[in-house]
Amino acid sequence: MSEYFNVSHVFGEDVFSDKVMQERLPKKAYKALKKTIEDGTELDLATADVIAAAMKDWAIEKGATHYTHWFQPLTGVTAEKHDSFITAPNPDGTVLMEFSGKELIKGEPDASSFPSGGLRATFEARGYTAWDCTSPAFVRHDAAGAILCIPTAFCSYTGEALDQKTPLLRSMEAINTQALRLLRLFGNTTSKKVTPSVGPEQEYFLVDEKKFLQRKDLIFTGRTLFGAMPPKGQELDDHYFGTIRQRIAGFMKDVNLELWKLGVTAKTQHNEVAPAQHELAPIYAEANVAVDHNQIVMQTLKRVACQHGMKCLLHEKPFAGVNGSGKHNNWSITTDDGINLLDPGKTPHENMQFLLVLVCILKAVDTHADLLRESAADPGNDHRLGANEAPPAIVSIFLGEQLQDVLSQLINTGIATYSIKGGTLETGVKTLPSLAKDATDRNRTSPFAFTGNKFEFRMVGSRDSIASPNIVLNTIVAEAFCEACDVLEKADNFEDALHDIIKSYARDHQRIVFNGNGYSDEWVAEAERRGLPNIKSMVDAIPTLVTDKAIALFEKFGVFTKAELESRVEIKYENYAKVINIEARSMIDIASKQIIPAVIKYTKSLADTVNAVSAAGAETSVQVELLNETSALLADTKVALAKLVDVVDQAAGMEEGRDRAVFFHDVVMAAMAELRDPVDKLEMIVDKDMWPMPSYGDLLFEV
Ligand code: ADP
Ligand code: MG
Repeated sequence: MSEYFNVSHVFGEDVFSDKVMQERLPKKAYKALKKTIEDGTELDLATADVIAAAMKDWAIEKGATHYTHWFQPLTGVTAEKHDSFITAPNPDGTVLMEFSGKELIKGEPDASSFPSGGLRATFEARGYTAWDCTSPAFVRHDAAGAILCIPTAFCSYTGEALDQKTPLLRSMEAINTQALRLLRLFGNTTSKKVTPSVGPEQEYFLVDEKKFLQRKDLIFTGRTLFGAMPPKGQELDDHYFGTIRQRIAGFMKDVNLELWKLGVTAKTQHNEVAPAQHELAPIYAEANVAVDHNQIVMQTLKRVACQHGMKCLLHEKPFAGVNGSGKHNNWSITTDDGINLLDPGKTPHENMQFLLVLVCILKAVDTHADLLRESAADPGNDHRLGANEAPPAIVSIFLGEQLQDVLSQLINTGIATYSIKGGTLETGVKTLPSLAKDATDRNRTSPFAFTGNKFEFRMVGSRDSIASPNIVLNTIVAEAFCEACDVLEKADNFEDALHDIIKSYARDHQRIVFNGNGYSDEWVAEAERRGLPNIKSMVDAIPTLVTDKAIALFEKFGVFTKAELESRVEIKYENYAKVINIEARSMIDIASKQIIPAVIKYTKSLADTVNAVSAAGAETSVQVELLNETSALLADTKVALAKLVDVVDQAAGMEEGRDRAVFFHDVVMAAMAELRDPVDKLEMIVDKDMWPMPSYGDLLFEV
């Protein structure tokens, strides 16, 4: 695809956008649909028929042969089942292309194989998909041809959420209601709707496809399970923001084109810290659309990589000892008339509405730090959070100098009288313009940082859906708004009550604020003194979903029922156990069938050499030493392998649930590390030509 393209022409060309709807729908149907999108009113079947027909005609003109209800079950990826538009043949053998309102609104996939955590078993086996008209339908072109994709929610017969989208939409309702209450208190009568805006920055690795295919660990698990460090890592910092190589640039160009056609606002692209690591960020969108778009981004990265002879690794930690990948979830709250509730203005100390919003967020994050941590938990992210890497597993908030100072004034004197100014940046070079400095500095080590007019939640894993973190953010902030409004709406003197609330929230929750180095050991000790949770792994994070505090929160705002939360807990334990089980079995397979045989061949060649050299009457001490060293490591490998086989067998005999997941975390993971250790040492000794797979150096530096 080297032809010239005009971005403004291709942007959104495969989206059933507002513009397309205006052009193609009768006025009455368009109005009814807009009302549904904006106010959530129910759509009648007759109107749905009209919309479905228009959508079908439009999609067929784009080459579509099928439609699919595109949904996000609790597998972390999207699911789809394709139905072609054709009807049963006419008597003359021809077919028609049809798509009814009923088919648009509701689907009934045979959903018994999707995780439901016992929800469907107890009630009803069926699952339903329901059209989410707030996220636009689109036509996707791939090897299957062109398919009309209809974003849908996925629920059980009795309405329990079996997906990511349903609770996300519910949490958006919750924050909308509570934020409007808050705005009304400040005399805002014009804003009609408040929505969370989300901009996720997606990190990923690219490796050569031929090399990828020689690594069974990458094929089966998405990460390397063995691998010695290459002579060069990321220590020179020469990759971050470095020149993008031509092969990668060609890939990025095609990714952008594909995304733009689908209405995804791909905006920034650059090389990341680790070799072969890159990042893509779109312009932020409404949370619901941002979540769908992030799924499209991940799928597009993978598909286009294949077209370029590469593989895109979305795993959080594809390579031990090399930076992993995450997803910074930028989040703010915006009204339909363009007010960002997180915009402090030039003088934040005078902006009482902003200060209230800010202290509510402090309260929300402090009260539910455990839930936020859980929202970023997945098996891959365990290798980042709480390990020696960004960001730490302890949730804290970075405010920056200016807001920190306003907060201190509030806590100390009860009133803030000034805001530190950003000032200008002097470069000392006359020909350069002087730059206005931001009053909010950056702190790359904070897991939850205020960055000007938004918060950036940096714990999310690169492969994970961003639905969970946004569900939690929306709901916990809705709760804090609600509690503040409950008091303020009843107050005799609004000014006084507001002042008191801001001061008390700031004081009571200042422990969550930390502006220092989040990677330091001192912070771990300090956080413990402050009583902040330090939840190190996914298995430890999962129970936070069903504490009394969490159940009360989610039930109060109608985001999750207790049964839904319990089902998610079950699914997560199962998922964790399955992932580690696959990793352990892959290690066993690779060690038994590839590594041990290769090392045996190497020892034989050494032994042959020893014999030949000594027969020739020469000195063989080096060869003998190498042979002994290799044989010893081989013996260690065999012992560690036997142990791993044993613990995996033990796990297989355990009942599903928490104990089994914990066993995988504590026992199986440890056995995996024990097997990896001698193998990585062997890789440094054995003849490269005999080693059965490409090395880290081959994978990371020869893309
Ligand atoms: P950086 O890497 O410097 O943090 P990027 O430009 O890579 O910044 O990504 C920042 C992300 O934050 C983008 O997706 C951007 O659209 C998003 N963003 C900017 N403003 C807001 C906002 N008010 N609410 C939510 N997201 C925002
Ligand atoms: Mg970025």
